[in-house]
Amino acid sequence: MILLDRVTKRYIKDLPPAIDRMSLYIEPKEFVVVVGQSGSGKTTLLKLLTREEVPTSGKIIVGGIDFDKLKDSKIPQLRRKIGVVFQDFKLLPNKNVFENIAFALEIVGVSKREIKYTIPKVLDIVNLKGKEKRMPIELSGGERQRVAIARAIVRQPRILIADEPTGNLDVKHAWDVIEVLEKINRYGTTVLLTTHNVEIVNKLKRRVITIADGKIISDRANAGYHNKIVHEDET
Ligand code: ADP
Ligand code: MG
Repeated sequence: MILLDRVTKRYIKDLPPAIDRMSLYIEPKEFVVVVGQSGSGKTTLLKLLTREEVPTSGKIIVGGIDFDKLKDSKIPQLRRKIGVVFQDFKLLPNKNVFENIAFALEIVGVSKREIKYTIPKVLDIVNLKGKEKRMPIELSGGERQRVAIARAIVRQPRILIADEPTGNLDVKHAWDVIEVLEKINRYGTTVLLTTHNVEIVNKLKRRVITIADGKIISDRANAGYHNKIVHEDET
């Protein structure tokens, strides 16, 4: 569950806030698409949820954790509940697929044996079975993004946040990524996706939240996207 109650995030005094008294409730296992022009506050919203940014005012609760009561020492516990995927994949270029995913497990002390057991399973979920030994440079953009998704979900987070994950991909590879996100959502993970791609939004038929100037201007269940505010070429 994700709850925002009149959340404001102001980066710079005297400038308009990036998030402006936003209230929002997302149920467990929902699939939510966040759309809005470049600079509307999408990334800031996601960063508030992972505690990369701290709100100027307002209340945030994520996965039962009330941020007002969140001590710094408990932030890793929050982050374990949330997997994050970015537009630019952020894979380690000198490590192969197995090592890139294993890294996420090694840092939390998972045994070698369990890592060996887990990675083929997670590669299967992202439709990259048997690609353990590939280097990132040997993969297409869509495959790289699916490795990044595998790394984000390998610790079984309850929430997956994907910030413009298809922004660097052509249509076919974008769909491969979206299908994997839908599969992960079917398995019970809450998915929060931001995108500029109108075609993706329309075909997905999921809850669509449109933001402008840090405010929600529409929130529609199973919506296609008709408003012309969003353009595909923006990032
Ligand atoms: P989006 O992801 O929708 O493009 P962002 O959340 O990145 O929007 O940005 C929202 C607004 O906040 C923009 O006006 C942007 O310039 C501003 N902003 C984002 N990050 C920072 C920052 N670290 N410092 C100052 N301003 C920022
Ligand atoms: Mg952004």
